[in-house]
Amino acid sequence: MGWIMSQQTASTSESTAQHAGGQPEKQLDARSAVTIYLAKPPRPSTSSQRKATASALATEYNTTTKAVRDIWRLRTWLFSTMPHWTERDTKKFLSRNLCETCRRAGVTSLTEACARCRRMRSRT
Ligand SMILES: [Zn+2]
Repeated sequence: MGWIMSQQTASTSESTAQHAGGQPEKQLDARSAVTIYLAKPPRPSTSSQRKATASALATEYNTTTKAVRDIWRLRTWLFSTMPHWTERDTKKFLSRNLCETCRRAGVTSLTEACARCRRMRSRT
């Protein structure tokens, strides 16, 4: 793990908001992605709770609710949020993404998976 998480947990809107260059959507960074992941309403949560949280986070991080939900759904920033995944999320992710061989071998985390399974998701 490369980053120091304890720094700047408080609201420092400056460090992340500077991305001038005409991009309408700010790129999230790994730390924001982790924060967003952890802010997901715990189960059981209603869809309106999730919607409200997603939109609050989107506003806070100057991004879209889709980007927030993609993080929650483990579609983006996988390798950043992975250390924080709940068991349920891990299982769900693996059941959807592992190859047959890994599945049969009973792989329980992406780090144990074969190179192909890991590479498939390493671009986020
Ligand atoms: Zn595999």
